[in-house]
Amino acid sequence: MARVRLDKVTKVFENGFVAVKEASLDIENREFMVLVGPSGCGKSTTLRMVAGLEEVSKGRIQIGDRDVTHVPPKDRDIAMVFQNYALYPHMSCFENMAFGLKIRRVPKSEIEAQVREAAGILGIESLLDRKPRELSGGQRQRVAVGRAIVRNPKVFLFDEPLSNLDAKLRVQMRAEISRLHNRLDATMVYVTHDQVEAMTMGDRIVVMLDGVVQQIDAPLELYHQPVNRFVAGFIGSPPMNFLSGRVVRQDGIRFVGEGVDLRLPDTVGERVPEGIVDLGLRPESVTLGAPGEGFAAEVDVVEPMGSEIFLHLRVGESSLTARVPPENELHPGDTVHLVPDPEKLYFFDAVTGTAMA
Ligand code: ATP
Repeated sequence: MARVRLDKVTKVFENGFVAVKEASLDIENREFMVLVGPSGCGKSTTLRMVAGLEEVSKGRIQIGDRDVTHVPPKDRDIAMVFQNYALYPHMSCFENMAFGLKIRRVPKSEIEAQVREAAGILGIESLLDRKPRELSGGQRQRVAVGRAIVRNPKVFLFDEPLSNLDAKLRVQMRAEISRLHNRLDATMVYVTHDQVEAMTMGDRIVVMLDGVVQQIDAPLELYHQPVNRFVAGFIGSPPMNFLSGRVVRQDGIRFVGEGVDLRLPDTVGERVPEGIVDLGLRPESVTLGAPGEGFAAEVDVVEPMGSEIFLHLRVGESSLTARVPPENELHPGDTVHLVPDPEKLYFFDAVTGTAMA
């Protein structure tokens, strides 16, 4: 297994579009690194450059101790699993999994042993004689993962491998890939647009936007200490709420926005200067209080989830979401009083979006 390093890697496509700008990553041996971001942020292009499927315009890529920037994909010692499985339709599952070994002229008995072992890990022994069209989406995905396992690569690369599966199967396969990572002790790089997948699977997560790496951190660090408003809004579900307003010093320190006048803890004054800011508030960091407490909001939509309720609310022109206990009986049009946890307030520069530490 191996470490993967990207040193200021840039990708400029032929039409001049810069898809990735000076991305530097240091993925440790045996790490599960997730690249996440909205559609078009450059995460697949970054992965494809690691695979060698996309040329690097500037910068360097290293796998293990080797500079592979200009090494063809087949010589990089990687295996990639794609969203669309990319299985050969005319071959059985066994043949699909064996194919890479066969062209490397691995002896037949060894191929047999390796395919059977991988099939055992993935629980697909009974499917080996079938053609891909005779399999469900989840089973096809397992075969595609099996094909990667038998190659025994230094690094596994996954490009949105679960996107074609239904929600329940996605959750199941998510756990399977995590288990596989523990079992194989492999370095894995995994691309997804789904922040829940990123949070639940990654040892660390790279958040990208517009071709630029925004933050690289462990899941809970991203959640608790986002470096900017974009990361804060991207990580967490439902997402963080934002309110525009001003921090003022008047009877202590306060945040004043449309329909909101909140007394802030004195410690906030040490890190946030007076002036215009965006206040960030997670849906799980507010409770419902009595009239006069916190600030008032109008209930717009009530979403009962069983274990809790997602309340969609309006405060002036802003929309907010709150997660509240299931006992609350609320209806659209009701007024509630939101009391934020004073220790869990985030502040962002209103112009740059940078978090105020
Ligand atoms: P998605 O989740 O939609 O796959 P992504 O974050 O993986 O998005 P990429 O596939 O890496 O995004 O693409 C990054 C950007 O580069 C996009 O704006 C895309 O339109 C652009 N792009 C991709 N391939 C090419 C190409 N061959 N020529 C020009 N632009 C391209």
